[in-house]
Amino acid sequence: MIIIMKPGASPEAVGRVTGVIEEKGLQVHLSQGHQVTIIGVVGDKSLLEGVNFEVSEGVERVVPVTESYKLANRKFHPENSAVPAGNTVIGPGTLTVMAGPCAVESREQLLETAFAVKKAGASFLRGGAYKPRTSPYSFQGLEEEGLKYMKEAREATGLGVICEVTSEHAIEKAVKYVDMLQIGARNMQNFELLKEAGRAGLPVLLKRGLSATIDEWLNAAEYIMAEGNPNVTLCERGIRTFETATRNTLDISAVPVLRSRTHLPIILDPSHATGVRDYVEPLAKAAIAAGADGLMIEVHPDPARALSDGPQSLTFDQFEGLMGRLKPYAKLEGRNF
Ligand code: PEP
Ligand code: MN
Repeated sequence: MIIIMKPGASPEAVGRVTGVIEEKGLQVHLSQGHQVTIIGVVGDKSLLEGVNFEVSEGVERVVPVTESYKLANRKFHPENSAVPAGNTVIGPGTLTVMAGPCAVESREQLLETAFAVKKAGASFLRGGAYKPRTSPYSFQGLEEEGLKYMKEAREATGLGVICEVTSEHAIEKAVKYVDMLQIGARNMQNFELLKEAGRAGLPVLLKRGLSATIDEWLNAAEYIMAEGNPNVTLCERGIRTFETATRNTLDISAVPVLRSRTHLPIILDPSHATGVRDYVEPLAKAAIAAGADGLMIEVHPDPARALSDGPQSLTFDQFEGLMGRLKPYAKLEGRNF
């Protein structure tokens, strides 16, 4: 439930309400707006049986929260969240562009790409060091060596760096080298991994599962947040449907739907959503128009030779051209990059 305080309710009145909640062994989640304070209650609400907050001084009304996710819920936190990550803040007013290769393949490949995406205006370098591949015989990633190159690229360019983590072991390694952890589509409901990511002390980009509903996705975010990490960003990357013309089907409606249900920032990945280089630009524009807070785009120095996801990767020139054309769209939506 959430308890909405009257405008200008005194700190003592707020304290009396939060005191009762904590006394009963539940958690308080306080959202202090300009005018109104909202008190979110997290935990087993049966412990509050018999307590009537409505009669407490300063309380305007009590609203039940029927959704199973609470911390991620917009009802708990009516204003859009801003997630500090790397050298930027993901959220309102900004279009955060994360770009780079699908996989870190070599030091040269990564550094070259880092300088190119930086020059084009990206604020994050992406690159997988632990690759969740469909076939066990496909390139699996450079692991810690790849993470070291990510860190080197960060130091050389000043870009934030983000890497997918596929296990607890990968998290332990990654926290030493990167600014943000990525949980990939295939692990969206790996609950132990989500909890570990929640405890890692870095912001987390949570991709939507291959066939996950928005409700399941927000509950996955809740797993991370329930460990005390509020810095979660969601990434729509297409879902499985009957359509085979594209690798996945981009659920563009996820952007406004999420916007109505959660305060967390939303990033869109047109590369994995389509699997086709030529479709990246129209969907990147659509993402901005739909209100996304950022984009994740795969870029490779030589896509024809990429060890993974070459067909959807842009060349440096293509990426630079795209970024130039996205600028007016971002401006129209009140976002800078
Ligand atoms: C990736 O971003 O490298 C990736 C594997 O994406 P997804 O988890 O969305 O398939
Ligand atoms: Mn990829």
